[in-house]
Amino acid sequence: MIIVLQKNITERKKANIRAFLEDRGFQVREIVGEEEIIFGAVGKSRIDLRSVEVLDGVNSVIPISKPYKLASRELKKEDTIVRAGNIKIGGNRVMAIAGPCAIESRERMLDIAAEVAKAGAVMLRGGAFKPRTSPYAFQGLGEKGLMYLKEAGESVGLPVTSEIVSPVYVDMMLDYVDVYQIGARNMQNFELLKAVGKTGKPVMLKRGLAATIEEWLMAAEYLMAHGTDDVILCERGIRTFETYTRNTLDLSAIPVVKKLSHLPVIVDPSHGTGLRGKVLPMALAAVAAGADGVMVEVHTEPDKALSDGPQSLFPEQFEKLMRDIEALVPVIGKSVETIPMNKQKEIVINELKRSTDTDDKGGLKASFQGVPGAYSELALNQFFDQDIIAEPYHAFKDVFSSVMHGHTAFGVLPVENSLAGTINDNFDLLLSHPDIEVIGEQQIRIIHTLITLPEADIDSIKKVYSHPQGLAQCADFLDRHPHIEKVPFFDTAGAAAYIKELNDPSCAAIAGAQAASAYGLHILKEGIETNPRNYTRFYIITREEFAKDFTANETPNRGVLIFSTKNKPGALFTALQVLSNRGVNMNKLESRPILGKPWEYMFFVETEISDIDEFHLAVQELKASCQTVRVLGTFTSGR
Ligand code: PEP
Ligand code: MN
Repeated sequence: MIIVLQKNITERKKANIRAFLEDRGFQVREIVGEEEIIFGAVGKSRIDLRSVEVLDGVNSVIPISKPYKLASRELKKEDTIVRAGNIKIGGNRVMAIAGPCAIESRERMLDIAAEVAKAGAVMLRGGAFKPRTSPYAFQGLGEKGLMYLKEAGESVGLPVTSEIVSPVYVDMMLDYVDVYQIGARNMQNFELLKAVGKTGKPVMLKRGLAATIEEWLMAAEYLMAHGTDDVILCERGIRTFETYTRNTLDLSAIPVVKKLSHLPVIVDPSHGTGLRGKVLPMALAAVAAGADGVMVEVHTEPDKALSDGPQSLFPEQFEKLMRDIEALVPVIGKSVETIPMNKQKEIVINELKRSTDTDDKGGLKASFQGVPGAYSELALNQFFDQDIIAEPYHAFKDVFSSVMHGHTAFGVLPVENSLAGTINDNFDLLLSHPDIEVIGEQQIRIIHTLITLPEADIDSIKKVYSHPQGLAQCADFLDRHPHIEKVPFFDTAGAAAYIKELNDPSCAAIAGAQAASAYGLHILKEGIETNPRNYTRFYIITREEFAKDFTANETPNRGVLIFSTKNKPGALFTALQVLSNRGVNMNKLESRPILGKPWEYMFFVETEISDIDEFHLAVQELKASCQTVRVLGTFTSGR
């Protein structure tokens, strides 16, 4: 059952409720959500729910209707994000696990690890105990293999996963792997599930060869009931009558499981298809269907692999897959998980924690313009992977001053929309703040939704509020519903906040889905923008003294600079020639009037850098020929 606790409940009352339930044989988990704190209570005992409802501090009690309880979305509305090593699985990110089917030798493992890490895998795989159909096939290197796997993972800074086939190996494997893998054949080995669950360590649970989704979730429930909260579900194909593929990869399981459970779901197209040539399309389809990641087999010489060679990708194929995933994820509003934070970044984060205002728990803050639920807030959360406290500010200039005064460590600024063009105000503000630097960019897809009160339907809506651009971008949808009056508002998320306040079911707002959840409103229709290729690009800014360290150890592929030229013929041409000669590719050039100097202009240039040394040389040369030159920032972008 789910026990929703009263807001601001005291620790003493919580302890009393917990003791009451535990005395009656329930296991109790506290889940702190965005809007409420709940206790999830599961156990064999039966209890009259009313006896819990009357306890001091309880708001309401809701029974869980599904046989799986801890794994159920009814219990926990927010996505579970599993941490393994220093990476995260679930939420807004897509990750890739790669490596050979089996660990074959130390050298082979090190080679493959280097290849997959370079291409963007964030976890390394490799089987040390191979459950093979034939007892005469290669069975794996056992503990020695795990030593090689761990060493290879450490050599490239990746966490590792490997399959466990028997409860007797639980302790031995504990220090070798970051994630236990439970294979398809062992999905319902309940003694194994219990033993692995007890360790509390993350587990990747493959779907059994002939398991229903419910059986799969019940297997996850075994793991969770015995002590682990961190289960990653892995769809790897099921047995059907089809023989052209090794298994039938059930991609429809992804949206089904996502609705039923809060656990992350990844897909293994290697075992799912058994054919190298089918891995790439099915991996992309899995990501498009909402998978939180993929696991693929990669080998430096698949023809010589001791197992599953025909389905193992060549390193170049894996590299292509990662590039394609990179291109796909912004469309579905996600970003690719990468190995985060080098040492240098950790140092600068600690320094920022000392020198800027933090929240009560010491968390870093970042400022955005608008109200909660704004697209800018979404961009911040995506850039910082939710590891930031996003604070709303009234105007763009307040974002700058909050960063300048150390009220926040970072700020976010929209700079360009793919349909509406450049947001000039922010370039002007960058110009007038010489102590601010750009340390990164985040692109998000703008998906407008029609937000209403829960009881509304499309015919009952009389007015819709949104930013004029929000209204314009949904023109086709609004034209199809001419009975709805369009009311311009200062801000999209602000419009959502306003209709919440109005509490009138005939009033709707157009804003992002995040605004609906920020104000507890209903999404009547998602994706109502006329052009689905609607993206906004944001800069992340910080104070100059932190910027250098924040981007140190990165190989920047973007550079933003501003310069003003002398007033003579060919001055701009000369400046651009410098960039061209140094191989600096220009993506965008804008001119802006210099404040206080009528008819004089600054030039903003966004560049793509392939060689950072050449970029710095170009800047030196520009300084010689231009009046002023300022580098606004160099950073790495996935765009
Ligand atoms: C594996 O991933 O190496 C494996 C054996 O997969 P499955 O359990 O899905 O067959
Ligand atoms: Mn395999």
